[in-house]
Order: sequence, then structure tokens, then C-alpha cells
Amino acid sequence: MKKALIVVDYTVDFVADNGALTCGKPGQLIEDSIVQLTKEFIVNNELVVFPVDLHEENDPYHPESKLFPAHNILNSPGRELYGKLNLVYEDNKEKIIWLDKTRYSSFAGTNLHQILTERNIEEIHIVGVCTDICVLHTAVDAYNLGFRIVIHENAVASFNEQGHDWALGHFANSLGALVLKK
Ligand code: ZN
Repeated sequence: MKKALIVVDYTVDFVADNGALTCGKPGQLIEDSIVQLTKEFIVNNELVVFPVDLHEENDPYHPESKLFPAHNILNSPGRELYGKLNLVYEDNKEKIIWLDKTRYSSFAGTNLHQILTERNIEEIHIVGVCTDICVLHTAVDAYNLGFRIVIHENAVASFNEQGHDWALGHFANSLGALVLKK
């Protein structure tokens, strides 16, 4: 079965200590797992996609403007990939698909569905942040579109520990995802 790795929102704003909307420590602890999985998929010639949240400054029309502090603003340092993942991206740009997204789900307003179906990909591995927001919404859309879903527990994180735990249960129990421990 052909598979793809979807690395959601692993940016400075969502992960670094000084990020605008950071997961903090839990987000930083998954860095090595995300980097390792990304390298594995690249070495095996499997698809890697980096959907990255994109906002305009003071956008009055975006629903998140009322919900969260400004984050992942176009061309800001906060929107760069966090830590070692940025180096992996710089070294493998031609093998990784960067995908600007403006909503929680990586499928909303993007061509991710076409990218996957035209390559006959049936199984997607979702990692990144936050487990209970953008990873969750991406997984729900993947479920509705009929993809087989794999979640790597050591490569997803959230600032909300309860939300993280709840989402892991939801992936397995309601979306039929394979949730891999370590
Ligand atoms: Zn956002």
C-alpha cells in the first residue's frame, strides 16, 4: 500500500519557547521523532507533505483572529519550521511538498486530496501539532475521504494535555486509526 507522511504545523510559533501559540515542552520533545520519520519516508521514496498554517496580520475575516493570538504570519520567523526539521527541509526541498493551509485541516482549501489520490496513496501517517486541533481536523477529513490513518503517538503533541489524550482515543476509537506507541 502506498503511504504518505503528513507533518502538520511544526513551526517556531507552535513549538519554540517564544512561539506565539506554542505547545512548549511537549512540542519540543517530539522533534527527533518527527525528524526521524521524515528522513525514513524520504529514504524510502515515499511522499512527505508539510502543511503549514498561514495567516495575514490583523485579518478581520479569519475566524482564528478572535480565538488565538496572531501566529504563523506570512514571511515571519515564527512561520519557519522548528529546529532540526528546518535543516531536513532545506536539504530535501525537492522531495518534500510544502503546503500553505489557512484552516485547521490540511485538506481545507488545499489540493492535498488531489496530491494523494493522483499518487494512489491510500494510507496517511499524520504527525505534528497540535494533536487535538490541526492533527485532529486533518485526521477527521482523511477519515471522511476514506484514507487509512496512522498516528505516531511519540510524534504528536499539544499545549492541552487532556485534549491530547482525548484526541488519541478518538483517532483509534472513532476514526479507526492505527495509533502507534513509540
Ligand atoms: Zn492558525
